Amino acid sequence: MAIRVHDTLSRSIKPLVPREPGIPYRMYCCGPTVYGPAHIGNFRTFLIQDVLRRTLQMDGLEVRHVRNITDLDDKTIYRSQETGVPLHEFTEKWTHKFHDDCAALNLLPPHVEPSAVEHIPLQIAMVEKLIANGHAYKTSDGSVYFKIHTCHDYGKLSHLNLDALRTQETNSAGVANDADEYERESVSDFALWKARKPSDGPNFWPSPWGDGRPGWHIECSAMSTHYLGETFDLHGGGIDLCFPHHENEIAQAECATKEKGFAAHWFHTMHLMVDGAKMSKSLGNLYTLDDLRTRGATPMAVRYALISGHYRSQLNFTLKSLADAGAALSKIERAAERLLARCGLERADFAPLSIPEKNTTWGEFQGAWDMLLDDLNVPGALGRLFSALTKVNSPERTPAQARADLSGLGNLLYALGLVLFTGNPDENAGAEAEIPAEVAALGERRWAAKQARDFATADTLRIELGKLGWKSLDRKDGYVLERLED
Ligand SMILES: [Zn+2]
Repeated sequence: MAIRVHDTLSRSIKPLVPREPGIPYRMYCCGPTVYGPAHIGNFRTFLIQDVLRRTLQMDGLEVRHVRNITDLDDKTIYRSQETGVPLHEFTEKWTHKFHDDCAALNLLPPHVEPSAVEHIPLQIAMVEKLIANGHAYKTSDGSVYFKIHTCHDYGKLSHLNLDALRTQETNSAGVANDADEYERESVSDFALWKARKPSDGPNFWPSPWGDGRPGWHIECSAMSTHYLGETFDLHGGGIDLCFPHHENEIAQAECATKEKGFAAHWFHTMHLMVDGAKMSKSLGNLYTLDDLRTRGATPMAVRYALISGHYRSQLNFTLKSLADAGAALSKIERAAERLLARCGLERADFAPLSIPEKNTTWGEFQGAWDMLLDDLNVPGALGRLFSALTKVNSPERTPAQARADLSGLGNLLYALGLVLFTGNPDENAGAEAEIPAEVAALGERRWAAKQARDFATADTLRIELGKLGWKSLDRKDGYVLERLED
């Protein structure tokens, strides 16, 4: 079954299949603007895209994933000048930081990660094509604008009414330009090339229209079509990019290629809220990964918390939701450990699981996988994962079933990008938090001994647990550890 997800362009759920058989599934995602550390709202989008890519791969598709680095825009130029660091050095530092955070969050690196600064000739070439095709014009100051009224279906992605369209932003900071400042023919026209201004400092490049720099939107049209072809399979980004950025990307690309279709499928992720409010510096709720680490969270718990909501719904992130994510991971780890023991394996055997061979088995986790294929329903998949966990350690499961369950669990965790046993400090999280590691280990060994019908060992371990002030209460399909009453 092919995975199906929502497409903003057609406003419908569509299957994701390569447009041309035999070649990889091609996806482009708008990347970070590297002028500071990315916040968890940015990472929510990148993580959801990562789960999508992993699910496509797990579903048997070869994927080619391109995600750009925006290192040339108003924000990077302004901040580099403010700090007195050359633009290249400044953006390199934040690109490294972004890569470190991505690695910690277990994001698969894109196959190509083009930077805007390194692709200026490519962007100039696209602007030249737009001028030649009658879709752009130069103003007397040496800027070039896209002529919106020449693009007959402008607005088709965000379903805009052109008449209602007012001043276009031309920078990525969301600040609308003063229409009087430019000689635009129409206030809705947007900049493809921005003539050099004193405030740009040393950051300008030569072009057929004089010194300047590309407008922000053109980099994605130029680089996506360069690396993936004029028409490719899927374009992703946060919903806040839908207008004007993605709308302008479509206009630029399709007018430059004389109306060949650009991306076939548009995959948008809804906003992340923090404590019920939009993230903002002034509210102090603009968390970075480091902020959460200093509060004791592991990157895996952050990953879990950020993917756990449906991509088409706003997700409300709280420190409580992060603690719950840590507790949920610990629960999965304990169940996985028991399952490994039943299969005669150890933790180390679990780690290398990656994309499985075709016809893999899912065991009790089939339902969870089906949830991912159905509009990338991560919360649904996690729900099914936990129901499966209560079943897989039941003594009635045969060894063959246990192996299928283990394979299914490994596959599912790969698709979600969750890595177990990475030192998730469950001590920080929820009711299960207070169980000391030594006690938890004894509890695991006692349960394993009991499952193996080695009652003598199980009894010895029960006594050892008691000496530490704990008891184990057995349930039909598992156990809980509780403190002994005084
Ligand atoms: Zn973009």
